[in-house]
Amino acid sequence: MTQTPSPIPLAELHCHIEGAAPTDLVRELAHRNGQDITGLINGENGYIWSDFDSFLSAYDRVASVFTRAEDYSNLAYAYASGLAAQGAIYSETFSSTDHAEQAGVEPMAYLNALADGIKRAEVDHGIVSRMIPTGVRHFGTQAINRAADIAIEAAKTNPLIAGFGIAGSEVAGSLLDANDAFARCAGAGLGLTAHAGEWTGPPTIRDAISLGVTRIGHGVRAAEDEALMAEIAAKGITLEVCPVSNVVLNAVDGLDAHPAKQLHNAGIKLTANSDDPPHFHTTLAKDVETMVHLLGGDETAMRAMLTRNALNAAFVDEPTRQKLLGKLETALASA
Ligand SMILES: [Zn+2]
Repeated sequence: MTQTPSPIPLAELHCHIEGAAPTDLVRELAHRNGQDITGLINGENGYIWSDFDSFLSAYDRVASVFTRAEDYSNLAYAYASGLAAQGAIYSETFSSTDHAEQAGVEPMAYLNALADGIKRAEVDHGIVSRMIPTGVRHFGTQAINRAADIAIEAAKTNPLIAGFGIAGSEVAGSLLDANDAFARCAGAGLGLTAHAGEWTGPPTIRDAISLGVTRIGHGVRAAEDEALMAEIAAKGITLEVCPVSNVVLNAVDGLDAHPAKQLHNAGIKLTANSDDPPHFHTTLAKDVETMVHLLGGDETAMRAMLTRNALNAAFVDEPTRQKLLGKLETALASA
């Protein structure tokens, strides 16, 4: 696929690595494994599903073809390289040790393999990436605590592990069940983010804030509560907004009903992200374009703001952050 990279560098904070698997890699691995993937891939390199349940099942079918540690290295490499081709200079991906274990790959081998792919993409394409292991909310508190323990242990030797997050069903249990896990990860120096306010309303977003997060995955339903928007803005919490995902999954009632502009006007820092790109038939570039359309105003300024917000909220060491911000400013100076 040929594409013109964005003249303003892009940066992404919210993408699930298994959900980002390119269809050609999945086809190749399924063939190797002898797995039947009939009905999974459409003619446009996207995955086929029709409602939220069939999306989750397509997601699990895609994840199930990654059965060897080296497969994850190739996945991380393919995704980061594809982002670099779009003009991205930085990427953070969620990694689910639970999904890897279900596919038969031991958590540490999984995280090390992802790191290997990330490093190769940086050498070949200059894109810097970090990983955020996540607990899966509908797997329960014990699983979340275990995922946190693995993240803390892995981060001791794997500097690309920069944060901890929680994903999965927003209606399973309470986000507060992750309180211990988040406190321990914060103590270990990991950045914190939680999916909230995509399907459930302001109370879940308040729960996420009480966990000490500096970012919220989605968070778009904060727009229903003026006081909450003011609190998010005052605390400088960044929202990882995924506009195409919101529309495709019907989390919002069509693009015109997306509250991005309202959140922006309330002083909240927004970023644009692709979530599970081949499932939602999107790319980071398309999500950035969608977000710029929603926000209006000067296009270059809006693109720069989205990237700057992402880099400022990134779970990355300070020297690397400054280097990336410098790249953005250099590109802007010549734009
Ligand atoms: Zn997500």
